[in-house]
Amino acid sequence: MAIDPTQPYDPANIFAKILRGEITCNKVFEDEHALAFHDIAPQAPVHVLVIPKGAYVSWDDFAATASDREIAGFIRAVATVARDLDLVQPGYRLLANVGANGGQEVPHLHVHLFGGRPLGRMIS
Ligand code: C5P
Repeated sequence: MAIDPTQPYDPANIFAKILRGEITCNKVFEDEHALAFHDIAPQAPVHVLVIPKGAYVSWDDFAATASDREIAGFIRAVATVARDLDLVQPGYRLLANVGANGGQEVPHLHVHLFGGRPLGRMIS
């Protein structure tokens, strides 16, 4: 079910549990700003989720309230994951769902990183 991105951060959400090590994930990258792991229901040959370590409900919340250092660190982490997975030259797609129309289901900001095949013009 889609979440309301204007609600306060819920520390019981599944990605918060992954960050606290209460639930395992298939990790591909971690630094002080971000954790990246394979999506459990991949929609492309490469489908990785990159999440910030801070408590942000959505892209909107992150942009409005995170520090410039956190934002820069998170963006660099996403790019590093793509480079580490050798996706830069063939190309890849980033996607952040926000709220009901965006289809966001987990109330902790996550950027989907898709790659490994031509992805077409858009994911609807
Ligand atoms: O953007 P949205 O909130 O819809 O995406 C949530 C994503 O989190 C889904 O792609 C789902 O497969 C993934 N997921 C996961 N591990 C979990 C729970 C959800 O990779 N334990």
